[in-house]
Amino acid sequence: IYPTAALRAADAAHHIHPFSDTKELNAEGSRIITQADGVWLTDSDGNRIMDGMAGLWCVQVGHGRKEIADAVHKQMCELSYYNTFFKTTHPPVVALAEKLAQLAPDHMNRVFFCSSGSEANDTVFRMVRHYWAQMGKPEKQVIIGRWNGYHGSTLAGTSLGGMKAMHGQGNLPVPGVHHIDQPYWFGEGGDMSPEDFGIAVARKLEEAIDQIGEDKVAAFIAEPIQGAGGVIIPPETYWPEVKRILKERDILFVADEVICGFGRLGSWFGSDYYDLKPDLMPIAKGLSSGYLPIGGVMVSDRVAEGIIDKGGEFYHGYTYSGHPACAAAALANLEIMEREKLVERVRDDIGPYLQKHWQALGDHPLVGEARMVGLVGALELVPVKGDRTKKFADEGTVGTICRDISFKNGLVMRAVSDRMIISPPLVLSHEEADLLAATAKKTLDETYAELKR
Ligand code: PLP
Repeated sequence: IYPTAALRAADAAHHIHPFSDTKELNAEGSRIITQADGVWLTDSDGNRIMDGMAGLWCVQVGHGRKEIADAVHKQMCELSYYNTFFKTTHPPVVALAEKLAQLAPDHMNRVFFCSSGSEANDTVFRMVRHYWAQMGKPEKQVIIGRWNGYHGSTLAGTSLGGMKAMHGQGNLPVPGVHHIDQPYWFGEGGDMSPEDFGIAVARKLEEAIDQIGEDKVAAFIAEPIQGAGGVIIPPETYWPEVKRILKERDILFVADEVICGFGRLGSWFGSDYYDLKPDLMPIAKGLSSGYLPIGGVMVSDRVAEGIIDKGGEFYHGYTYSGHPACAAAALANLEIMEREKLVERVRDDIGPYLQKHWQALGDHPLVGEARMVGLVGALELVPVKGDRTKKFADEGTVGTICRDISFKNGLVMRAVSDRMIISPPLVLSHEEADLLAATAKKTLDETYAELKR
């Protein structure tokens, strides 16, 4: 038990939280998490809460794995830090790069390291332009992203992402970025069938390329399933049509794997799940299960040819690119994932098991749609069941109520406006999945009752 009141007071006085309305937060007091084990968090008052979001979609192997701590400790005793600039390397980063080449789709064999998903996308931003310059087409500069996509919080990440509230702070996006619609059938599909909508929204990419000019477009960036945008699972027709469009044109495809990578969809990468064959894959989060900060960009042999084989220096890198301790954490994490067959487990066992529970929540009067792939899912909360066009008057309020009730009931769910999101650790047991679903149901009942009051 920790001194909650004192911690809250000091937090309010000195700590600027990311993505938090600090005034609101300080009025309520922050939630103080002090320990974690498996899928369970413990707060400063000793309460146990199920981590239904795996932290921020990242703790694949669950919390408190001593094996990772031991690997980091050993690495820190041997070589706690050295850089990878100027042709230098060290054993853990070599081993990790080799491991990732083995796990990634066959045509991707090289990786550039950084410390986060945002840095990975800053790297992408520069790398795709550098690639085209190397290939003698420096005029290919424009990167196409999607509205409501999320690619991080740095200038490039925010710009490539399509979060209008984020763009509004800091006069973004930077020039040279264009956004197209997202494949969000439930919210934006109108009268169309999901299949027709998937094709129609993919063709927005074709229209954008034609409008900008193929000779000016460098790349298209997208998450296989949009995570922070609300777990937007595209209709089945969407990716094949996007692939067709990109194949017919000379444009690089960036699949942002920061959430979908490392087993979340029951495959090593979301690109495997949808057979995307991208040219670049930003990775982070599940790479180390969040134990230490590490990210990267995996590149296809085609991109490697431009940025490596042609020679010349890419003036880009971070002090912590390939940090030895972070690489050791990632290696230990991947070892656990392989040994415990967590990817297969999500695909064949716990994924389908939780999905069944999740589908049943779709019958609740407050839920318009329950969707899940692998172990990432969303519930669309609606005011009128059966009517996709009706939204709550004060958008986001019901989601926030539901999120807070869920936390009180002992389950972390995230609210993205009026959508409830779940993305638990991949080690979730059957009993824990039962409890997760029961708590989500109880939370929906209580939220519904609250709205009727
Ligand atoms: N890309 C995607 C798809 C993400 O979901 C995120 C974070 O949630 C990022 C990039 C940014 O990663 P980070 O927060 O590690 O900078």
